[in-house]
Amino acid sequence: MSRIAYVNGAYVPTAEAFVHIDDRGYQFADGVYEGVSIRHGKLIDLEPHLDRLWRSMGELQIIAPMERGPMRLVLAEVVRRNRIKDGFLYLQITRGVAPRDHPFPAETPWPAMVVTAKRLNFDASIEKALTKGVAASSQPDIRWGRCDIKSTSLLPNILAKQAAREAGGFEAVMYDKDGYVTEGSSTNIWMVDAEGTLVTRSTSDNILPGITRATVKTIAEELQIKVEERAFTLDEAKDAAEMFLTSSTSCAMPIVTLDGQRIGDGTPGPVAKRLIEAYKAFMDA
Ligand code: PMP
Repeated sequence: MSRIAYVNGAYVPTAEAFVHIDDRGYQFADGVYEGVSIRHGKLIDLEPHLDRLWRSMGELQIIAPMERGPMRLVLAEVVRRNRIKDGFLYLQITRGVAPRDHPFPAETPWPAMVVTAKRLNFDASIEKALTKGVAASSQPDIRWGRCDIKSTSLLPNILAKQAAREAGGFEAVMYDKDGYVTEGSSTNIWMVDAEGTLVTRSTSDNILPGITRATVKTIAEELQIKVEERAFTLDEAKDAAEMFLTSSTSCAMPIVTLDGQRIGDGTPGPVAKRLIEAYKAFMDA
């Protein structure tokens, strides 16, 4: 947790950082967020994160609390004040404070903005990715029809992640009513087929357009690994040569078992390992 948080214009010690009980984020999850990884003190892929944030706000008609320039300064200041070298920055913007009523308030409130940051050990997580990977558990995707918006309304994701944890998995691999994998509860999901082609669901297909997903796709293309964007079923995934997940906190992490069934030989595969090394180089550049 941050020792210093940014809350609506002020940098305050976390213990003194509060939001209003009528904040629509608290009442209705009427807000959006971004999570950005910090490596060597630098915010990774900040511009695509800001693009996605602006898109999420636009889709929900939440006004930006500040322009992008000042926002970059606030984010950098939170990293600096917390002296974070490797970690994770969390940024949340809600529609603001208004008496509880479902429609947008007649008088548009000023949006509320909170930024925190915490330490993460990326070297340990990269080491784990290269040597161990994680177990995953399939869970039905019970979310709404706008998963492209990075909304703070995450209850279905929380339930999926919790069910996965209770089943011994690190992440939930969510699937739709036709048995096709959508994404993880907080990650994008990939497989490598028998020909070595990387496969991941298309972002036009009602999933969150992951920033790590986009960077890993570019890296794969640079490495001349073939990438196909299409839906694949759980059964196909279980028969795949490799599986892995991507997210800002996990980078690329091999999934070595799904529902207790080994993927490939049950260890991190060669394609995932190449991508992890290349993603690490990208973060270190
Ligand atoms: N899908 C979902 C549902 C997520 O919540 C996240 C992380 N916030 C991701 C994918 C991965 O996105 P990113 O690579 O931008 O962290």
